[in-house]
Order: sequence, then structure tokens, then C-alpha cells
Amino acid sequence: MSVGTVEGLVIGGERITAAEGRTFDVVNPASATTLATVAEGGVEDVNRAVAAALRAYESWGALSPVTRGRRMHRFAALVEERAEELALLECRNVGMPISDARGQLGMIVDVIRYYAGAVDKFFGHTIPVERDGIALTFREPIGVVGLITPWNFPLNIANWKIAPALAAGNTVVLKPASLTPLSVLRYAELAVEAGIPEGALNVVPGPGGTVGAALVEHPDVGKIGFTGSTEVGAGIARQAAATIKRVTLELGGKSACIVFADADLEKVGRMAPYAVFENCGQDCCARSRLIVEESAKDELLERYAATASGLRVGMPEDDSTEIGPLISAAQRETVEGYVRSGLDEGATVVAGGERPAGELEAGFFYRPTVLDGVTNDMRVAREEIFGPVVSVITFRDEAEAIRIANDTPYGLSGSLWTRDGARQLRVARAMRTGVLGVNSNSSVFPQTPFGGYKQSGVGKELGMHALEHSTELKSVFISTE
Ligand code: NAP
Repeated sequence: MSVGTVEGLVIGGERITAAEGRTFDVVNPASATTLATVAEGGVEDVNRAVAAALRAYESWGALSPVTRGRRMHRFAALVEERAEELALLECRNVGMPISDARGQLGMIVDVIRYYAGAVDKFFGHTIPVERDGIALTFREPIGVVGLITPWNFPLNIANWKIAPALAAGNTVVLKPASLTPLSVLRYAELAVEAGIPEGALNVVPGPGGTVGAALVEHPDVGKIGFTGSTEVGAGIARQAAATIKRVTLELGGKSACIVFADADLEKVGRMAPYAVFENCGQDCCARSRLIVEESAKDELLERYAATASGLRVGMPEDDSTEIGPLISAAQRETVEGYVRSGLDEGATVVAGGERPAGELEAGFFYRPTVLDGVTNDMRVAREEIFGPVVSVITFRDEAEAIRIANDTPYGLSGSLWTRDGARQLRVARAMRTGVLGVNSNSSVFPQTPFGGYKQSGVGKELGMHALEHSTELKSVFISTE
């Protein structure tokens, strides 16, 4: 709900205007028109939100995990009930095709349910020690957790962090990306409706450099969970060190899709393009380096490029659209700059490489683009493009495939296509990456850990691992001597 015509901050369970009265506009990237005006938080609003979260922690943190689990189940049911409304907000604000946005909402509900059910199955131990007595461990909430999230999957990524944090008994202040605050503001209202105490989940949109930084510096915030670029993440880690905050970072990627000649090339050509072009390539897991065995390259490239060219680029609210616009004009210019740099360094365009014409001209659209003749030292192969561009690189043997895949500062995701079982295991073990799909685009589930190696991050989301990162571990010894 909005405060007048302005989408208010959510602090203490209410929609309110910003302390300094500022607002900013949010744009629909498919039409380049204003979608909403949002209250722009500042340092004072962060202080108010943290104070509200501290108050709510007294009641929420003290509840038994069983009771918290029940409330989280109610929250999941409400989000499920309002899924279409939330999916539409996501679709309009991000430019995400509506069918994808509906899929995201499915995962969001599943993740809340996972933590609602998991939290009373996550407990300490009794540990044998030398002295007479008993050594115990307890899992306890951290307190107030600060979360900072990006614009590419705004609600899904926020929910990956919020659901385990709340289930574990923490309270939350979230700073969403300035480009996409709408869905999580609505979601926070639903949390209150579900019986999660007012102030347990606060949302303060506003500039990263002020709202985000104030959250990272705040002495009453015990942990920062961040998803975004490696550059901003590194700054947050430095800043958070001043108050010894717990920090988890989900950062950028430059993931590989390795294809051996023995793979089912028809299947790879039909499926693998979705692993880079979905969400218009604005995916930290985008398999943006297609590393293919030389002898299979011509056949695979023909199939892969045909799929890429046939993807339905269109208005996000159209049910049949597969690829929507990029998030902003600036993002599209960045993508176009990368394609030019690839061409300057000797690559060739075999699909896409241009903006679509006609009714899509008003939005920030760009066609799925396949660059052939790339080597792993080119800029397009080294830097995260965060757009619909894949670079095709060839290898001669398994060792070279692994060397190229690992020759990157990142290590987030990856795909591997081969029918050879021993090779599946060998290469999967050799790839320095946190998440990997073998003969599959997807390898992300509510139950399994997600997170990066190397400069792609620290800590894990999802699975029981997120509960570890949402709690402190206390060790107690009770003497019976
Ligand atoms: P970004 O520029 O790093 O921003 C991420 C968030 O940090 C935004 O909310 C931003 O606020 C905030 N922020 C910016 N400067 C800050 C500062 N100095 N202190 C505190 N917060 C600050 O990233 P993005 O462009 O939104 O997202 C794209 C990046 O996210 C890509 O690199 C992508 O790979 C990565 N990503 C990673 C994962 C993963 O799970 N590993 C998932 C999705 C995306 P403003 O919006 O106000 O600038």
C-alpha cells in the first residue's frame, strides 16, 4: 500500500514517508516510463528501522522455533495467495517475463516453507569432554540482520536471505536495489499480516552509498548479508570489519558451460542458451562462456545460435515472451560496449548483436547475442557483462577445458555436458565453482547450498547452510563435579 501517491518505507510494520521527505521514481524498463514514486530513505530512516528491529527482536527472538515456524508457514500461504500480484510487480519493475516471474514466486513460497519446516530441526549438540559434566551447544539468533540486495531477481534474492534470518529468530532491515524496490515492500506488508511482529522486517529503499553504508556501519546490526557486485561487496567487507560484523557475500560471476563432443548436442543446443539468456542475461549464474570441444563446435554453434535467434524477445507481460528488456538504458549501453570490444578484439557476431525494432524500441531491449572466435583473454571472456551475450571458446582436451573454465577470478556457477560418467565426476571435482549442473541448466534448489568460490563470494545461501549463517553457536559446559 502506498502513502498517498508515494510507496512508503516499511518501518515498524507501517508504510511511512522518509524522514527527510525525499522520493525517487522507479521505471518500467519495457516502456521507459515511470512506474511508481518511492520514499527515499536516508541515515535517519536506517536508525529508525534498526530501532524498530531491535524492539521486535525482544518478542520474535524469544519465541520457540516451533511457533516461529508456524508463523512462517502462514507467511508462505499468504505469499502464495498473492503470488500473481507480486509476480506482476516483479514483471513490471524488472522487465522479467511474466512466466519467469511466476516461476520465481513458486520458488519464493517453497523457500519460506523450507525454513518454516527446518527451523525446529536445527539444533545444538551434547559433546563428550574429559571433565565430569556436560558440554552443550546452542544455536541462537544473531539479533538484527542487515540485508542489501540487487535488482536482477529482487524478491527471490531478498527472500533467500529474509526467510532463514527470520525463521532463526533474527529481525531484519533490508535495503533493496534502488531500481527495483516494489515487490519486497509489498512482501513486507504481507509478513505483518501473517503475524510476524511489526518491526521484524523493515524495508528502507534509498541510495546504496547512504542507506546501505549506514546499515553496514550501524553498531546494533550484527550481520550483513549482501548480494551484488564484487566491487561493492569488497567495500562492504572492509566497512563491516570496523564493527566485526558477520558478513556473507554473494557476488559476481563469469561462469562456464563446458560441452564435450560426446554430449547430446541436440539437447545442449536446445537447452543451454537458456542458462545465459534468461532474465536477459542479468543473472549472476549466467553461463556466459560456452567452452566447447573443437570437434563439436560447428554443429553445436549452429544449433545454439538457432535457439538464441528463435528466443521470443517481447513485452514482459505477454505470456509467450521469453526475453524481456535490460534493466536500464545504462545497462544496455554497457552491454553494447562489451559487444563492440569483442568485435574489436577479433570476435564475430553469429546471432543478435543489435536492438530489436518496432514496438520494442521504447524499452531497453537487446537481442540474445552469440560471439564466436573468442579467446579467454579477451575482455568479453574476463568481465561480467550482465546482459544477453555469450562468448564461444574452443578446447582440444579435458585438461584444457578445465584450465580455461578455472582461468577467471570468479567461481559461482557452471554447466558441464558429457555422457561419460567418469568424466562427469572428474571435471565436476576439478571446476573451482560453488554450484554446478551436469547435463542440466539448473542446479539451484531450496534444499541445496548456493554460493561462490573465489571472488564470487563468502558463505552460503539456501539449505541448512543459510541457518548456520543466520545464527551464533554458543558452547556451554555444566560441571557435575
Ligand atoms: P551493486 O551495484 O553491487 O548493488 C547491489 C546493492 O548494493 C544495491 O542495493 C545497491 O544500492 C547497494 N550498494 C551500492 N553501493 C553500496 C555501498 N557503497 N554500500 C552499501 N550498499 C551499496 O549490484 P547490482 O548492479 O544491483 O547487481 C548486479 C550484481 O549483482 C552483479 O555483479 C551480479 O553478479 C551480482 N549478483 C550476484 C548474485 C549471487 O548470488 N552471487 C545474485 C544476483 C546478482 P543501489 O541500488 O542504491 O545502488
